[in-house]
Amino acid sequence: MGSIEVIDADITTLRVDAIVNAANERLRGGGGVDGAIHRAGGPAVLEDCRRVVPDGARLPTGEAIATTAGDLPARLVVHTVGPVYAAAGDDAPALLRSCYERSLAVAAEEGCRSIAFPSISTGIYGYPVDDASRIAMDVLTAHVDAGQEPSVVTMCCFGEDDRAVYQQALEDLRTG
Ligand code: ADP
Repeated sequence: MGSIEVIDADITTLRVDAIVNAANERLRGGGGVDGAIHRAGGPAVLEDCRRVVPDGARLPTGEAIATTAGDLPARLVVHTVGPVYAAAGDDAPALLRSCYERSLAVAAEEGCRSIAFPSISTGIYGYPVDDASRIAMDVLTAHVDAGQEPSVVTMCCFGEDDRAVYQQALEDLRTG
């Protein structure tokens, strides 16, 4: 039986099979959680990013791809590109949904049983956290309820305010 937990933590500290990175399409690191993951993971993460997305290429928004986790306690990093809220317009919800779905699918292909997500797109990319939390928890509960791997799912928020929002979204879904 699977599980979903919503926590307030630094995702780089989690000992899970896969942590998800809210990356950008060039996959060369950046600010926010992306910067934290590259700092903690070390040069091996960037080196593997260069292999999976060569110079001049890009990972499309809504897609996901796995790399080594370098020095992180996780086994691998699944990089996904969230929508820039202001630029994505009406496509934003479907693209954000795709980030969660594709990350789960890539982790499953890699044999992962546990996975942790940050709050994709709600930082620099400007997605309102209320709306983003409902989409995230909708995908994650459907995945776990279907009995699919990775079956141990952590929503890793950064700060108590975000944790409370995602927890509420989860409870709203559970109580219908
Ligand atoms: P995006 O560009 O997709 O908006 P950001 O990294 O700017 O990505 O923000 C996504 C979320 O990640 C924000 O809620 C931010 O507070 C959070 N975040 C930043 N650092 C960490 C970290 N070390 N662990 C978990 N979440 C983090």
